[in-house]
Amino acid sequence: MRVCAVSDCEKPHPLQHCGNLKDAFVNNNSNALIALLHDDARQRFMDHATVVELTAGSSLWEGNQSTPYAYWPGSGMVSLMATAQGAPGLEVRMVGSEGLAGLHTVMGFAASALTATVQVSGLAWRCERDALASQCETGIAQAGSFANVMTRYAGAVVAQMTSFAVCLRFHHIEQRLAKWLLMAQDRARSSHLHVTQEALSTLLGVRRVSVTNAATALQDLQLIYYRRGEISLLNRKGLEAQVCSCYRLDAQLFRSHLRSTLFTGLAN
Ligand SMILES: [Zn+2]
Repeated sequence: MRVCAVSDCEKPHPLQHCGNLKDAFVNNNSNALIALLHDDARQRFMDHATVVELTAGSSLWEGNQSTPYAYWPGSGMVSLMATAQGAPGLEVRMVGSEGLAGLHTVMGFAASALTATVQVSGLAWRCERDALASQCETGIAQAGSFANVMTRYAGAVVAQMTSFAVCLRFHHIEQRLAKWLLMAQDRARSSHLHVTQEALSTLLGVRRVSVTNAATALQDLQLIYYRRGEISLLNRKGLEAQVCSCYRLDAQLFRSHLRSTLFTGLAN
């Protein structure tokens, strides 16, 4: 049973059973990037965007295939996966309420090399490429304009990718699993995640036994409870003590590039 995607609603009901879900989402300023837009830019964005459900397991687009949309989640979480011939894929970025999935669409490109897969169900703003182009006319120089906020976000993403490469090469799988769990909790705004060990091994680019050993170690420390694809984060402070430095660096990159304390919640 999924928990309602609205952050202040604790009812454990399926998304479609919450009558005022979309109205609450619209009024909540749920996405940090949309919240950074000045009033006129935010209203113009909302006039062109629609609220859509993100369903766990579904793809928003496939790698190298044209898509007209970009998504700004307010809840839930999307994995951006890199694939190579003969390889199962690797998660290179996760996106939730702090960002957007479809930076290539905002920049005017038809396709991305990455595949976007919903990991945690939720709600998102969705906007078409043609409608986005008109919103960039204000230019990047004006603080709070659409182009200004999205360009600064792009800068944070580029810096984040450098950090990701270092993490992948040098940091232990227990640290990386702790980072993935904390980042997923931050973005999905939930302490309960549905993800199998098989899926985690693909996302993290390691063998399944490595995920099993890392999850067992975190569970032995009573930091998580993991059973049959259901993970509960029991001790956030404890996980923060296990995580690699990349977790806090990631949050610092967002705060410095977006010049906003809205991203403080990504890491303490
Ligand atoms: Zn790391």
